[in-house]
Amino acid sequence: MAHLHDLTIKKFHEGLLKKDFSALEITQATYDWIEKRDSEIGAYLSLNKDFAIKQAEAADIKIAKNEKVTKLTGIPIALKDNILVEGLPATAGSKILKDYTASYDSTVSKRLKDAGAVILGKTNLDEFAMGSSGENSGFKITKNPKDLERVPGGSSSGSTAAVADHMAVAALGSDTGGSIRQPAAFCGVVGLKPTYGSVSRHGLIALASSLDQIGPLTKTVEDAAILFNEIRGKDDLDATSADVDYSLEDLLNPKLENIKKLKIGIPEEYFIEGLDKGVSAEVERVINDIKSLGLEIKKIRLPHTKYALSCYYIIMPAEASSNLERFDGIRYGTRHKAGSLLDLYRKNREAGFGAEPKRRILLGNFVLSSGYYDAYYSKAQKVRQLIKRDFDEAFKEVDVIATPVTPTRAFKIGEKSADPLEMYLSDIFTIPVNLAGLPALSIPVKKRTGLPVGFQLIGRRFREADILGIGQFYEKLYN
Ligand code: GLN
Repeated sequence: MAHLHDLTIKKFHEGLLKKDFSALEITQATYDWIEKRDSEIGAYLSLNKDFAIKQAEAADIKIAKNEKVTKLTGIPIALKDNILVEGLPATAGSKILKDYTASYDSTVSKRLKDAGAVILGKTNLDEFAMGSSGENSGFKITKNPKDLERVPGGSSSGSTAAVADHMAVAALGSDTGGSIRQPAAFCGVVGLKPTYGSVSRHGLIALASSLDQIGPLTKTVEDAAILFNEIRGKDDLDATSADVDYSLEDLLNPKLENIKKLKIGIPEEYFIEGLDKGVSAEVERVINDIKSLGLEIKKIRLPHTKYALSCYYIIMPAEASSNLERFDGIRYGTRHKAGSLLDLYRKNREAGFGAEPKRRILLGNFVLSSGYYDAYYSKAQKVRQLIKRDFDEAFKEVDVIATPVTPTRAFKIGEKSADPLEMYLSDIFTIPVNLAGLPALSIPVKKRTGLPVGFQLIGRRFREADILGIGQFYEKLYN
C-alpha cells in the first residue's frame, strides 16, 4: 500500500484507478495515523469515522464497477470547523457553538460529497476564524507539525496542520485576511485564497462577508488546482458567487509556452524593514527560479499598502460584530440561567465568546457607532478603494505579483499572544489581497534551509490559472 506521506490528490487518484490500494484502506490508515499523531498536534476537533468509512466504501464500489469517478473520488479530506457539513458539529472554534450540529450542507461540502470525497472530520481554528496562530481556539491549541514548540499559523490551523502531517490528503480552510496562506507558509503546504466570488460562501460561518473566501490547502500546487476546480462556480444560494467561464485547460494543464508570456511584478512595498532577512533571501531565490523559467520580472509600486492593516482592522470588525449578533445562546450554543432577556444575552455571550471575538465586537460597534462612522468606517471604505486601485494600476503593467507571505517564519507558541497588535502584523502581506478581492497562492519555498517559508503569487480577478500555472512550473523545477 502507498505510504500516506507520498499521497497527493493526483497520486491517490492514479493509485485508486490502478487498484494499488482501496479508498477504504487509505481512509483507515489515515484514521490510525490521526490516532497516533493528533493527541500531540491537535488538528482535529471532531472525527466523522462511520460516515467516512461509508463514503470510502462507496468509492471502492464505483471503482470495482468501473463507474465514472471524479478526481476527488475516495480522497480523504478535512474541513475547517466553520464550514457546515450536515449532521456534523460546526463549532467555529467557539464555546458558544460547542453543542451545535449543522442542519444542512455548505455548498462546498455538497460539492465534495457529490464528487465522492471522503470527509474525515472537522478541524481546529482560531475562534470564528479570528487569529494568526491557532492559539485563539476556544477548545485547544494546534501545534506546528514541523516544530511542536511553534504555532502552525491561523486561523485555518487544524486544516493546515492535518495536511502538513499527512492526517488528510487535502483540506479546506477559509481566508479573510490570510488564514489559508499564512498557515500554509508556516507549515510548508500550498494554500489558495480564490478570487472573491469564485467559491460559494453558503454554509460558511461568516467572519467578514466582504472578505471571506473558502479555499484549498494541499501538498502540491497541482492538487490545489484540482480541488479548486471541484468547489468553484456559481451558486444560487450565494448572491456574491460569480458565473465565470474558467478554461479547464489553463487551470488543470497549463502550458509552459503560455506561462512564459506572463510578466511578474515585485512590489517595493513588500520588501520592507521588519521582513526577516532569511525570509527575504528565500523569496529572492524563488524570484530567480521564476526568471529561469523564462518569465520577465519587473519592479512595481503598490503605494497604499501601508494603510491596508488599519483599513482591514476597521472593516473586518465592523462586519464581524454584525455577523456575530446572531449568537445569543438561545437558538444554539450554551444557554445560561438568567432573570431577564437582556441578562440572558449578556450571560450567554459573556461565557460563550473568548477574548478575541469580544475585542472585535467592541471595535466593530465602535467604528459603526453614529459619532464615529464617518471618521472610521466610511474612511476605511475609501482607503479600500485606493488599495484596490493600486492593484488595478499594477495589473496594467504585469500579470502576476510575487511577494513574501509573512514577515517571519513560524513563531513560538505564546510569543505573540499577549500582544494583539504584534499578532495582527503577521498578516501584513496577505490582507491587501482580501481587500481587493483578488486570488493569491501561498507556495512553500523548495530546498530552503530551516523552517518552512512561503512565497505568494497574486493574480488578476478570476485568473487563478496564472498563479497556479506558475506555481506548477516552479514545483517542477525541483521534482
Ligand atoms: N489573522 C487575520 C485575522 O485575525 C485573518 C483571519 C482570517 O483570514 N480568517 O483577522
